[in-house]
Amino acid sequence: MKTIGVLTSGGDAPGMNAAIRAVVRTGAYNDMRTLGIIRGFNGLIHDEIQELDISAVGDILHRGGTILKTARSEEFKTEAGMQKAMEIIKKYGIEGIVVIGGDGSFRGARDLSRLGVPTIGLPGTIDNDIACTDYTIGFSTAINTVIDAINKLRDTASSHDRISIVEVMGRNAGDIALYSGIAGGAESIIVPELPFETDEICRRIIQGRNRGKQHSIIVLAEGVVLNKEISGTIELGKEIEAKTGLEVKVTILGHIQRGGSPTAFDRILASRMGARAVELLKQGIGNRVVGIRNNHIVDVEVEEALTMKRSFNQDLYRLAQILSM
Ligand code: ATP
Repeated sequence: MKTIGVLTSGGDAPGMNAAIRAVVRTGAYNDMRTLGIIRGFNGLIHDEIQELDISAVGDILHRGGTILKTARSEEFKTEAGMQKAMEIIKKYGIEGIVVIGGDGSFRGARDLSRLGVPTIGLPGTIDNDIACTDYTIGFSTAINTVIDAINKLRDTASSHDRISIVEVMGRNAGDIALYSGIAGGAESIIVPELPFETDEICRRIIQGRNRGKQHSIIVLAEGVVLNKEISGTIELGKEIEAKTGLEVKVTILGHIQRGGSPTAFDRILASRMGARAVELLKQGIGNRVVGIRNNHIVDVEVEEALTMKRSFNQDLYRLAQILSM
């Protein structure tokens, strides 16, 4: 294989640039030319291609976002869109592609592999919602961003004897809430994977107050709201305020969690995964998603990766409950 393409797709995540850099440089090391595809599958269809030499990926390791931009493309899912993509692939002599994104992007990778273009998926998403890997690229940075916010909210919450609810990202997966909650010492962690009771949350708050605690932090994943288990985080705050008689402030962190310089963990993870993708393509292997399990870089078939069930870390959740007594 002499020419490969790389694209980022779906939501952006810190560490995507580190993965792009690893693909380009491992490719160059193996005498492969890398073409950057701008704006995901959309750019593939609309001929937004530019060559990436080893200097083009200099000075990006520490930068959040993605130099290749990212997009969602409905057109790519259609037969006509797929045909356009194949024409561009032929035009540039692209023999293999690395797709950095989430579940949806892997479906696109699978479709290209089926059409004879070996394509490898790398899990780039802050939610940590990909079953075939212990960690996704961007998750570590996102939880560190949340912890930073929790630290600041704790200062002001204790000054005013308040309760602080922090809504974090995580549509179907509560990992951001769980990990940042445990690292930030939250009293309660509310995730889409487990049911919760407002009364129990209030009981924990009152218990803390009775032994002199000046503040309470509750971390809630947005999926709990999106899946309509509660009518909204603000409403939950009002309910807790009414039940405890204590002042509640709600902070919705939003897109701040998607930005920022990637942590060392994300940079190393992305570098290792990017290198594995190129090694696979070099052997003409496609239709696989790269992951990390027990600190080993692994790869699994796309279909298997898509059907695998994610397991929520119940042990960590229990530990969080014990430690926040
Ligand atoms: P995130 O987790 O950040 O949402 P994602 O990769 O899951 O990332 P999606 O919007 O689901 O984000 O998918 C990104 C792109 O992948 C889509 O815009 C589309 O171009 C392509 N894609 C998604 N699903 C399919 C599919 N079934 N077949 C082909 N391509 C798909």
